[in-house]
Amino acid sequence: MALTLSKALRDEQQTVAFGAALADAVKQLDLANLVVFLHGDLGAGKTTLTRGFVQGMGHKGNVKSPTYTLVEPYELPPWHIYHFDLYRLADPEELEYMGIRDYFLQKSCCFVEWSEKGTGLLPTEDLIIDLVYNGHQRNVELRANSESGERIIQALM
Ligand code: ADP
Ligand code: MG
Repeated sequence: MALTLSKALRDEQQTVAFGAALADAVKQLDLANLVVFLHGDLGAGKTTLTRGFVQGMGHKGNVKSPTYTLVEPYELPPWHIYHFDLYRLADPEELEYMGIRDYFLQKSCCFVEWSEKGTGLLPTEDLIIDLVYNGHQRNVELRANSESGERIIQALM
């Protein structure tokens, strides 16, 4: 059975802190080529969690939602971090035009919102993060889909 972890996130700060804890795990394990799919309804906190991750990896500035650009890169040596939001992807072929494969070849951490829009063109994910409304709060559920994913969940437990 796949390794899972779930946790209540009471407010935005806790969602950001969870993303930062994920960054600590990735740094500690010195992982590269990590692919994370973020699932959850609009407003569930996918971008908020990613902001915590990207800032936890050392980014000092803003983290804006790549809703219109599809991808936002962050160069944080030795990591290449890519934050995708495929919500507005009309045709998966757009991903071919933007050279989607190259993003996953290098040492990179790719966080993908609305990965279901890119089915068939994205690599297999290491980790699935599900954000679920719980009244005004949220629950986060992680599911490992590779050894790297399992190591991250173990580091978070
Ligand atoms: P998504 O990318 O999933 O569409 P966003 O991260 O853009 O969602 O927006 C999430 C919204 O919910 C933000 O307004 C944020 O302040 C709020 N939020 C994030 N985490 C929590 C939480 N744990 N509890 C309550 N509100 C949250
Ligand atoms: Mg978003």
